[in-house]
Formats: sequence, C-alpha cells, structure tokens
Amino acid sequence: MRYTDIAIIGGGLAGSTAAAMLGRAGIPTLLIDPHQVYPFDFRVEKISGDLQLERFGRTGLAESVLRSATLDGENWIARFGHLLDRQPSRQYGIMYDDLIAAIRNEIAGPAEFICNKVVDVATSSERQKIVLSRGEEISARLVVLANGLNVGLRRMLGIERLVTSHCHSISLGFDFVPVGRPAFPFAAMTYFSERPSDRIPYITLFPVGNRMRANLFTYRPADDPWLRAMRRNPVETLNAALPRLRRLTGEFDVAGDIKIRPADVYVSTGYRQAGVVLVGDAFASTCPVTGTGTDKVFTDVAQLCNVHIPAWLATDGMGEEKITAFYDDPVKTECDAWSNAKAYSFREISIGSGPYWQAQRWARFLGYLGRGSLRRLQRPQASPARPADHFRQRPHAADRA
Ligand SMILES: Cc1cc2nc3c(=O)[nH]c(=O)nc-3n(C[C@H](O)[C@H](O)[C@H](O)COP(=O)(O)OP(=O)(O)OC[C@H]3O[C@@H](n4cnc5c(N)ncnc54)[C@H](O)[C@@H]3O)c2cc1C
Repeated sequence: MRYTDIAIIGGGLAGSTAAAMLGRAGIPTLLIDPHQVYPFDFRVEKISGDLQLERFGRTGLAESVLRSATLDGENWIARFGHLLDRQPSRQYGIMYDDLIAAIRNEIAGPAEFICNKVVDVATSSERQKIVLSRGEEISARLVVLANGLNVGLRRMLGIERLVTSHCHSISLGFDFVPVGRPAFPFAAMTYFSERPSDRIPYITLFPVGNRMRANLFTYRPADDPWLRAMRRNPVETLNAALPRLRRLTGEFDVAGDIKIRPADVYVSTGYRQAGVVLVGDAFASTCPVTGTGTDKVFTDVAQLCNVHIPAWLATDGMGEEKITAFYDDPVKTECDAWSNAKAYSFREISIGSGPYWQAQRWARFLGYLGRGSLRRLQRPQASPARPADHFRQRPHAADRA
C-alpha cells in the first residue's frame, strides 16, 4: 500500500494540470494514467481569448506551457466571403497530445506520475483506497477524479451521467493547405456560416507549428451522409457548404486524416460524496463549438488546488461538507453556467429559424463589420486585406527554441 495526500485518476488536461499545481504547492500527490505519453486525440487544439488565457494563468502554468504553442497574432473574421474585421488575436495553437506533454513536463516532486490504470476505488470520510490494474493499492486522503469521458469508475461510486443533449454538435479537425501558392493570406481566420440550413456555426483556421489547422463544427446527426461526404471529398463538400470561403482562402486542399467527433452535453449526478471530487469532463461536458471546455477545466483545477485542497488538508477528515464547498464555489458555478448557456445559445444563433434568430445573426454580422470598420479608421495602415506570407515564415515555437 502506497500512502499519499492526493490521488488523481486521469492525466488529461485536468488531472495533469492539477498534479503540476499540487507538486508546486508541496502537496504529496500521485497522478495515475494508463498512458506514459498522452496519445493523439482530437480535442481542444488552441487556447484562446483573454478570459481563457487568464483562467489558464491562474494555474501558474500558462507561461511555460504556451511556449510550446503557436501564437497567431491576428485573426480575420469573415462571413459571406467578406472580410469583416482583422482582430488582434491571442490564439495559441497546440495539438492536445503536445499540450498534455507540456503540462506533464511541469510536474515535479512531491507530485509523481504512475503509468497504470485504476480499476477500483472505494471512498470514505477518512481515507480513500485505489486499486491499480497491476494490483498495487494506494491510500489517499482525497481522490480527484479527472478521468474524462470514462464512466466506469464513476458508476462504482454511484455517480451517473445525465445527458442533457445527445450529439449536440459534431467537430471536424483537419489540416488545411493552400493550393498554387505557398501560404494563406492570413495568420488565422474565423469564418461564420453562410446559411443556417448548412448547420455549420463556423470554421476556425489557425496555425499549429507550420501547419494551418481547421476546426469545423456542425449541428447534424452522427449518421448524416454529409459527414461521409466530408471524409470522402472534403474540398468539394466544404466548398458546397461554404461556397464563398474560397474568396478569402484561395484554392485549398485538405491533408491527412479528417477527425470527426460527436459531442454530448452532460452533467454528473450523485457526485456530492465524501473523499472524492470530480473535475473537468469527468464532472460535466460542454459543447466544443463554444470553445469553453478548457475554461471549465482551468477554473475547476485552479479553484480546487489554489483554494479548496489546502483548506481541506489543514484539518482531519474528508467529509462531504468539505467536498461540497468545491461544487458550490461561486467561481466554478458561474463558469459552468456560462459555458452551458453558451452551448445552447450558440446553437440557436447559428441554426435557429424565425425572425428573432435571423435578426440576431444580422446583428452579429453588423457588429463585426462595425468593429472592423472602426479598427480600419483607427489604424489606416492595417486597412487593405493584403495577402501576406507571414504565416508561412513564422517558425513554430518549438523550432525557435
Ligand atoms: C472535438 C473536441 C474539440 C474541442 N475543442 C475545444 C476548444 O476549442 N476549446 C475548449 O476550450 N475546449 C474544447 N474541447 C473540450 C476540451 O478538450 C475538454 O474539456 C478537455 O480536454 C477535458 O480534459 P479532461 O482532463 O477533463 O479529460 P481528458 O483529457 O479526456 O482526460 C481523461 C484522462 O483520464 C484517463 N483515464 C480514463 N480512465 C482512467 C482510469 N481508469 N485510470 C486512470 N486514468 C484513466 C485517460 O487516459 C485520460 O488521460 C473540445 C473537445 C472535443 C471532444
């Protein structure tokens, strides 16, 4: 039997971040995950926006981890084939496996990584027991369940998943390459849907190293033939769905595999229990279209590791009243509610029918156009949508190191 203060089950974004934070705080921690190196997985591929970066900053890891990512610097906002705005932008592109590797690099003693799978967990208001697949047992004061979508261990504890929206959206990830020219004329671009009937809220193009990565989202059923068409003839299918995208990108091709991933929106139930706390996707998911899953992860982990765990360890026991303080934390509940509301409002504003949603779409279009025009007036030198090859020339962060 090994003894520790904190046992974290799952070394994805939430678990690895928590382990690095607790190690820095000098709290004995074991992080358990079956993969020594996180395998390729289509999940978040960029950390972006001031709010998300601020939330990442609260973990204390952002600065070092983002050195492995690619900063865009400017993002074009476009719709109907028109460039509406060229926003200064802080999108840091990084593939999920590289993100987890960079975070795990920050894990230092007294936090340790154990490469194994947890097969059993038993909790109480005093000590918790975990069993690994190799038979080893771990005794911890607290279990942090950060095992993402895997429901097996939660069921053992009587925690269930309530799906509030089945196949809420589908995300597609692929490499987007210029044809007949060395580079695209933009560092990054967000292109909004042309027609609600296409059921595409937007496509976002952003640099990851020397590649231009595309994340395309759609509100379609998982068996929609359109997804098969995207796999077989991605360029033709995309051009049919967003016919004026090419005006801005020029001719393009799709390289490599197309990753397609449906996402449910769910929340856990029965989680208020002694000895165990759920973070990240293990607690609740959101819709990838909102780009707020990592906001939830960083908020959960920062509040847990900065505020609650140090307070819980200061006194004996790990009763339900301690754990409940985390779930009722106003910073966490506000972030969860904001993200969840966005999952539904984004869908409505993208595909909702009727005059109200049509008006909302036009208001958003005019808002971007207005901001873009104002920016052009303020910075006349930035006004022409000048093809630039700065993206091609910008080396990947890792190449610069
Ligand atoms: C397609 C897609 C696109 C997305 N895009 C965005 C985006 O643009 N912006 C954004 O903010 N968010 C986005 N998200 C959401 C974001 O990726 C997730 O919220 C986040 O990755 C969740 O991290 P996690 O650590 O909770 O789960 P995971 O990363 O899934 O980690 C779970 C870990 O638990 C481990 N595990 C499972 N079972 C066991 C066991 N029995 N024992 C030990 N370990 C175990 C697994 O090996 C894994 O390492 C996206 C999600 C998807 C699916």
